[in-house]
Amino acid sequence: MTATESDCLFCGIVAGEVPADVVRRDDHSIAFRDINPQAPTHILLVSIAHHPHAAALAAEDPRQLAGLVTAAAELAESEGIAGSGYRLVFNTGDAAGQSVQHAHLHLLGGRTMAWPPG
Ligand code: 5GP
Ligand code: ZN
Repeated sequence: MTATESDCLFCGIVAGEVPADVVRRDDHSIAFRDINPQAPTHILLVSIAHHPHAAALAAEDPRQLAGLVTAAAELAESEGIAGSGYRLVFNTGDAAGQSVQHAHLHLLGGRTMAWPPG
């Protein structure tokens, strides 16, 4: 898998070519607020390197997969939702509604969320 893909929206955000409300960045990942939030806190966490979905990220860079979860937990603390609880989601494939083919972890919180989701 290439490190970046020229037609990938989230690679564009990583490169700073597409504007985003970035809330956290480290050497391996970036986190920014979702443009169409589904909860009071809705942050997307992505690896700097391009991987098409969560399973590919897990296979190719398992430490980075764990790093996204750790970063999400830190953000949940700073967003004030760690105590109330939050949801972490990787949509994968069409039926799940994956619309950007660069693995991204949704951090959702700040409201009560039903299960199963609609
Ligand atoms: P998916 O449906 O692939 O799991 O999630 C993609 C997410 O990216 C959606 O929640 C959508 O609102 C968000 N999104 C799409 N385009 C942009 C954008 O240009 N900027 C930001 N910040 N979020 C985006
Ligand atoms: Zn990408």
